[in-house]
Amino acid sequence: MVLNAIFGLFSQDLAIDLGTANTLVLVLGKGIVVREPSVVARHRKTKRILAVGSEAKRMLGKTPVTIEAFRPLRNGVISDFDAAYAMLEYYIKETHQQAHPNPLHPRTWFAKFPRPRVIVGIPSGVTEVERRAVWEASLEAGAREAYLIEEPMAAASGVGLPVEASTGSMIVDIGGGTTEMAVISLGGIVVNRSVRIAGDEMDETIIKHVRLRHSLLIGNPTAEEVKLTIGTAYPVGKETATVIRGRSLETGLPRSVKVSTGEIREALALVTNQIIEHIKELIEDIPPELVGDIMENGIHLAGGGSLLVGIDKMIAEQTKMPVVQTKDPQTAVVRGAAKVLQNKKLLEKVKITGGLN
Ligand code: ADP
Ligand code: MG
Repeated sequence: MVLNAIFGLFSQDLAIDLGTANTLVLVLGKGIVVREPSVVARHRKTKRILAVGSEAKRMLGKTPVTIEAFRPLRNGVISDFDAAYAMLEYYIKETHQQAHPNPLHPRTWFAKFPRPRVIVGIPSGVTEVERRAVWEASLEAGAREAYLIEEPMAAASGVGLPVEASTGSMIVDIGGGTTEMAVISLGGIVVNRSVRIAGDEMDETIIKHVRLRHSLLIGNPTAEEVKLTIGTAYPVGKETATVIRGRSLETGLPRSVKVSTGEIREALALVTNQIIEHIKELIEDIPPELVGDIMENGIHLAGGGSLLVGIDKMIAEQTKMPVVQTKDPQTAVVRGAAKVLQNKKLLEKVKITGGLN
């Protein structure tokens, strides 16, 4: 107890959002210190990790045969343990060191001792074995205590929903690889769903559209760029167009074409409609005593995909429920996880143990 209290004075606890697209780290009492793509680059043969984060992302699709750059959590499951471990270790160590920039500061002298408490938000589709791996990885990477929390719970807490109250709260977190949706009440997940349709699928549908309609081959970065610049889910504001460059399927040579807001919206609808179908299915599963709460308080959105213009309107129209866009949706999970780490009672309730801790 006493020892823990002393450690607590010096250590800087961490909340980590191990997202399919982006990894965020928040140092308690300090704020978000890492916000980087969840990408790892490593040597194909020796498996040596060469880069993590933005540096690794720059290598995506451009790697020579000896290097592979990939996203270890792409589909909301940990497809590569070693890489996920490397990422976690890298960020825990890096932020822990960052916490002691001054060599004369007492924190530096105790650098080995005040190991942080760490809470990691993981997609709810992650299996038991994968959870154990993340938990062990956190401890091995230097955490004094490690906790896991399901992303929808963290996201709900992050957007300020009263997760401990008996009121029902609904959160839909549209990320890169997965959309996580849940109804929460009394500090627990009442019903939830994790589907592999989110931002990445939106990029894929744009690639397909441009190939079929314009016979142009484009890569994922270009498709994402199109989505971010002119992507909409619902006609709002002025219709525009943008010019994109790719490789002609007919000649094999570079070519540019103009794509309009309308056609991109049409392509995106193939994905947004699927997401909404899943939301509707979840709504059907909500116990009747909680449906009224959701109708009154609305469906709250989080995740980068919720930034798609007009997606709130589209969901509201099709589900007949009010929809609430939240501020800074991409940091909701990490902020929520940090909140939970500071709330002893809630932490005990929501931490995923699965026989772990
Ligand atoms: P994850 O939690 O799975 O790591 P994020 O919540 O960080 O994912 O969201 C990443 C996804 O959000 C990406 O597919 C990205 O293209 C998308 N995204 C980010 N900003 C926008 C935007 N303004 N409009 C549409 N999509 C966006
Ligand atoms: Mg996320």
